[in-house]
Amino acid sequence: ANKLGSKKERTLAMIKPDAVTKMGDIIQLIYEANLIVTKAKMTKLTWKQAADFYTEHQSKSFFNNLLQFVTSGPVIAMELMGDDAVSAWRKLLGPTDSGVARKEAASSLRAQFGTDGTKNAAHGSDSLASAARELEFFFPSTAGHGPCNTAKYTDS
Ligand code: ADP
Ligand code: MG
Repeated sequence: ANKLGSKKERTLAMIKPDAVTKMGDIIQLIYEANLIVTKAKMTKLTWKQAADFYTEHQSKSFFNNLLQFVTSGPVIAMELMGDDAVSAWRKLLGPTDSGVARKEAASSLRAQFGTDGTKNAAHGSDSLASAARELEFFFPSTAGHGPCNTAKYTDS
């Protein structure tokens, strides 16, 4: 922790299919919140990948709707870095339901760019442990193992 009691953290942000066209506005909000985008990837999730990413919700009534939505088009996954990045990004997101967000946090991203309780513009890891899992999901670390350890060839 620094003298203000905050910690440099990394978190996983994902712009969902409904807000991919708002990426410019979203990275501006990220920048203004003193977070930086350190990795980014645009990809279309398969049903199986989405089910894996959201595995904690597999028994929820909204699970199928959620997977239908997040596989309906490409998403943009980003690694964000900054002071208290996990909670800072969740705060920027606002409440889960975009309708609630418009009442309780009108300047939040879900208020501005989301539609309802499912189509809510973006995802954010809810803890450091989730962030570690979700960053590994989108940006797997390969150093030191696997068939393409480039360090082996670039070290001189
Ligand atoms: P958050 O994304 O704020 O962490 P959850 O982890 O509880 O929220 O839910 C994951 C996602 O599932 C939400 O972002 C939203 O897209 C969808 N979802 C959550 N709750 C509901 C609900 N009651 N009805 C429909 N969709 C929901
Ligand atoms: Mg969640």
